[in-house]
Amino acid sequence: PALFAPERRNSRGWDLAHGPHLARIDEARTAQRTAHVNAAPLLAGPVRAEPGQPRHSPSDPKDLVGWVQDASLRDVGTALAHARPWNIPETRCAEILRQAADLYEAHFGEIFALLAREAGKTLPDAVGELREAVDFLRYYASRIETLDAPARGLFVCISPWNFPLAIFTGQIAAALAAGNAVIAKPAEQTPLIAHLAVRLLHEAGVPPECLQLLPGDGQIGARLTSDPRVTGVAFTGSTETARLIQRAMAEHMAPGTPLIAETGGLNAMIVDSTALPEQAVRDVIASAFQSAGQRCSALRCLYVQEDIAPGFLEMLKGAMAELRVGDPWALSTDLGPLIDAEAHAGIATYVAAARAEGRVIWEGKTPREGHFQAPVAIRVAGIEAIEREVFGPVLHVATFAGADLDRVIAAINATGYGLTFGLHSRIDDRVQHLADRLCVGNLYVNRNQIGAVVGSQPFGGEGLSGTGPKAGGPHYLPRFTERAAPEALS
Ligand code: NAP
Repeated sequence: PALFAPERRNSRGWDLAHGPHLARIDEARTAQRTAHVNAAPLLAGPVRAEPGQPRHSPSDPKDLVGWVQDASLRDVGTALAHARPWNIPETRCAEILRQAADLYEAHFGEIFALLAREAGKTLPDAVGELREAVDFLRYYASRIETLDAPARGLFVCISPWNFPLAIFTGQIAAALAAGNAVIAKPAEQTPLIAHLAVRLLHEAGVPPECLQLLPGDGQIGARLTSDPRVTGVAFTGSTETARLIQRAMAEHMAPGTPLIAETGGLNAMIVDSTALPEQAVRDVIASAFQSAGQRCSALRCLYVQEDIAPGFLEMLKGAMAELRVGDPWALSTDLGPLIDAEAHAGIATYVAAARAEGRVIWEGKTPREGHFQAPVAIRVAGIEAIEREVFGPVLHVATFAGADLDRVIAAINATGYGLTFGLHSRIDDRVQHLADRLCVGNLYVNRNQIGAVVGSQPFGGEGLSGTGPKAGGPHYLPRFTERAAPEALS
C-alpha cells in the first residue's frame, strides 16, 4: 500500500451560518418542496411498468412525496442475471466516482428537499448527510490505486433508512471502486432518495449492468442474500437483520463470502465530576437527540458521577426544554419526526411503560400530528437495565460513585455492543484507562459522540455492533476485493 494517503479533499459543505448562502440554499430546496418523485427498479434487463404506491412524508401525512414501484422477486432474478463486474481502467473508474460526487453537490436543492420530505431530516442533518455521501465517493475514488487484488464479482448492498444517502452511497462507491457489480437494496422507507442517487451515479457514467437498484422490503434483501451468484454482501442495519443475513449466506453462498456488517449499538457516555458541565450538557444533547436519536452512534445511556448529578441533571432538563420538535423543514426545528408509524408506536409504548413505572426524569411536549416524539430522559440503575437499542430520542440516565468506574466499564462491555462511547473528564489518565478497557469502535473525548469524518475518522463497531473494517478508512476498500481476511491488513 502507498506510504502516503492519496491527495483528496472532503466536501466544503454548505454554509448555513452565512445569511445570503442560507437564502440560496433555502430557495433551491423550496423549488422542490411540492415536486412528486417516482421510483422503480433500475435494472439492466427488462422491467415491467406497474403503478407505484404513494409515499407520504413522516412529518406530514398530507405531503405526497411521490410513488414507488417495489421490485418483485422476478426483478431480483433479472438483476442477478444481468449483473456484470466493472472492468474499467482505475483512473476512469475514479473519474466517474468523482463526477458522481460533483453531480450530488450540484443537485443539493433536490437532495435536501427529499431528505426532509422522505426521511424527515432537518437542514443541518441533510447537509451533513450530503457531505458524507460526497466524501465517500471521493475517498474511495482516491484509494483505488492502493488496491492490489481483483474484484470479487457481485456485491449486494443493503442499507438502512437513517442515512438513506450517505450509507447507501458509501457501500455502493466502495464496491464499485473495487470493480464489482452492485445490486443495491435500500430501506423500504427511503427508496426515492436511493433512486435519485442511482440515477446520478448512472449519469456520471456507471453502466446500468454494474449498478442496479431494487427498491422493496426485507424479502428482497432475503432473496438476494440467499443466491450463490452473490460474492459479497455489505449490510448496514440492525444486529438482528445481520444475523439473518449471516445465516442465509452460510447456507447458500460459498464459504468465505464476505459479509461487511455495520449494526446497532447501546452507546454510553461517562461524565465525571471534573467535567465542564456546560460543555458536557451541550454534547449530551447533541449525542442523544440530534436526528431525533435515530443514529446508530447516538447516546443511549448517560452515566453521571453522583456528586455532580443533581446540578447536572437540572442543567440537562433546562437544555432539553429548549429543544424544538416538529416540521423538519423549519430552520428552528431541532428534532424532526420518527421515520414511520411503526417506529413511532414502538417508542411511544416504551416511554409510556417508563412513565407508568415513575422513571421519567423529564419529557418534552410531543406534537399531535405526524410521527413525532419529544425528547425524554429516563432513570435506570445502569446500562444492563436497557434490554435493546431504543432507536429514538430516549436518553437513559444512571449515576455512579467514583470508586465504581471499573464496574461501569464492565457493565458497558457486558452488553456485547461496541459502537461509540463518550467521555467527559479533565483527568488525562482517565482517557487511557477507559481506552484500554472498553471494547468500542469509536471513542470520543470531551465532545459529542456522533458523526465521523470520512478519511480521517473512520467509523465502525466491535462485537454485536459490526464486523469491521471501518467505513471511510483505509482497510474498508480491500475487503471488497479478493484480498484475504482483514487480519492480513493490520
Ligand atoms: P433493519 O431493519 O435491519 O433494515 C436494514 C436493511 O435490511 C433494510 O434495507 C431492510 O429492508 C433490510 N432487511 C430486512 N430484513 C432483511 C433480511 N431478512 N435479509 C436481508 N435484508 C433485510 O435496520 P433499519 O431499521 O433500517 O436501521 C436501523 C438500524 O441500523 C439500527 O439498529 C442502527 O443502529 C443500525 N445502523 C447502524 C449503522 C452503523 O454504521 N453501525 C449505521 C446506521 C444504522 P426493509 O427496509 O424492508 O426493512
